[in-house]
Amino acid sequence: MEQKVIDEGRKKKLDQLFEAFAVTSEGLYVYLCDMKYNYSRWSKEAVEFFDMPGEYMYEAGYIWEHRIHKDDREAYRQSLDALFSGKDTKYDVQYRVMDRTGEYVACTSRGVVLKDTEGNPEYFAGSIKNHGLQSHIDMVTGLRNQYGFFEDLKTIMDKKSKSIVLLCGISKFAEVNETNGYDYGNRVLQMFATLLRYSVGNAGSVYRMDGTKFAVISKVMTEAQLEMTYKAMQTKLRGDFYIDGKRQNLILNAGSLVVDNFEVSDKTIYSCLSYAYHESKNRHQGDFVEFHNELNDDNRRALERINVIRDSVLDGCRGFFLCYQPIVNAQTEKLVGMEALIRWRNETYGMVPPDSFIPILEQDMLFPELGKWILRQAMSDGVLFLNKYPNFRMNINLSYAQLEKSDFADIVIKLLNETGFPPENLCLEITERCRLLNLDDLRDLMLRLRDLGIKFALDDFGTGFSSLSILKALPVDVVKIDRAFVKDIEIDVKDQMTVKHVSELASVYGSDVCAEGIETKGMRDYLRQFSVNSLQGYLYSKPITFDDLLQSDIV
Ligand code: C2E
Ligand code: MG
Ligand code: MG
Repeated sequence: MEQKVIDEGRKKKLDQLFEAFAVTSEGLYVYLCDMKYNYSRWSKEAVEFFDMPGEYMYEAGYIWEHRIHKDDREAYRQSLDALFSGKDTKYDVQYRVMDRTGEYVACTSRGVVLKDTEGNPEYFAGSIKNHGLQSHIDMVTGLRNQYGFFEDLKTIMDKKSKSIVLLCGISKFAEVNETNGYDYGNRVLQMFATLLRYSVGNAGSVYRMDGTKFAVISKVMTEAQLEMTYKAMQTKLRGDFYIDGKRQNLILNAGSLVVDNFEVSDKTIYSCLSYAYHESKNRHQGDFVEFHNELNDDNRRALERINVIRDSVLDGCRGFFLCYQPIVNAQTEKLVGMEALIRWRNETYGMVPPDSFIPILEQDMLFPELGKWILRQAMSDGVLFLNKYPNFRMNINLSYAQLEKSDFADIVIKLLNETGFPPENLCLEITERCRLLNLDDLRDLMLRLRDLGIKFALDDFGTGFSSLSILKALPVDVVKIDRAFVKDIEIDVKDQMTVKHVSELASVYGSDVCAEGIETKGMRDYLRQFSVNSLQGYLYSKPITFDDLLQSDIV
């Protein structure tokens, strides 16, 4: 089709509109297209940066498309088609574009179509944000990476624009890589990225986070829409997803969070989002999980409270303190040890129990910092206690977030030296959630620390999916039977059988048994008939501060 040449009058109008538009788009490249002539004016900065033919161009869309990375062209075309066909009124797409030096930079482009009085498209006006060079782009999928995600998250928080964020990811991806090779795995990720981008369309931005996780930020979607989009993807990935002509099943997980509180940090948002994601993965078989930012007992929203608690970690773990709960010998009821249990307190919020913050902070990069504080504090308190009771054992709870750090053993050894606490008196409690770690590595770590005399307990036994396989895989000195099996022990035959068999099983593996949550003498008496070595619970004492413990008669 022959190109119609634009007349001076139309060109002048284009310039006027362009100048007006450019003023409002500081820091962005701007383009304006007179669609009747397919004639555009582009910002000078864009022309220079991308080496375009000039500020004024016919068929700029065509020229531009050839600078876009080939893997991103499809998404670009689809978005434009949706706009010009009237399906969408706004256009919002991200892609990689080649700059004048031949390098790709990530860009987000947004635009609108302006119609004439008859309702026909007359102008296409838009802006392009240049996110810069490779460092913000994931090389496998071409999506912006976590730097891009945090950059955009910060922007929406600064502008206080209510948004919704999604974190979704693929489970068991190692198997995909192992069975089909790494290149195949990369193609799966690329195809998944394309599907996600296509599913979200113009309604939001898509990012590749670490590993097989992806994120979405949307200012226009509701939670219900996002959930529907996610479910449609899940359905596709369960049966209708082909790579190299081969059907590939993928299992997805997703957590979401509405960002409408702008007083908290982006890191807090991300920890809460990761928490929702892990809940989806570990407890809800991949169902869409929303982070509930509900009011707590202290009448504050969960997000604000976590933000303050998170800040306290950064502030040298201010506000945290440990309580101790005695553990007694099942027969003699003499003290054999105690468990350190963390709490947090400040003036506004009062005392906050660990279940309200540990599961969320575990998702946070700074958790190991808090973990170190707990170890140090419990060991230094323990040293003072040793004078009075040389044989007691100090139980300290660990989170998998601490154990996955490669320097964990070194930290424990350093703290033992620093505080003078003897390793033989230390017992580290791990939970079944450790199955998320590489069990061979964890086993090696445990063996190394056990060589020094440190004991390991498997906490909350029976509550998770795979307590038994953990017991088989890891060298465990003590199995702690969860309160859930103990609380109705006097009346519930199934619990009675469970405790009986678990305690027998533990001895097969050479482990002692501790029963948690003993509240009455009746429970104690009932448990004594099984091979349970130690007891812990309110019958003996609730968790109390160190000073109170020193003065209590149980000691
Ligand atoms: P856990 O390690 O299984 O600790 C036992 C929990 O049961 C404690 O709750 C304790 O107060 C409670 N408990 C003990 N005896 C009884 C009883 O007779 N009846 C009832 N109803 N409850 C009893 P707490 O202190 O709220 O801690 C909850 C969980 O938070 C802990 O469960 C542990 O998983 C986690 N946690 C606590 N401190 C730490 C810590 O320093 N680090 C880590 N990573 N997790 C911690
Ligand atoms: Mg424990
Ligand atoms: Mg427990």
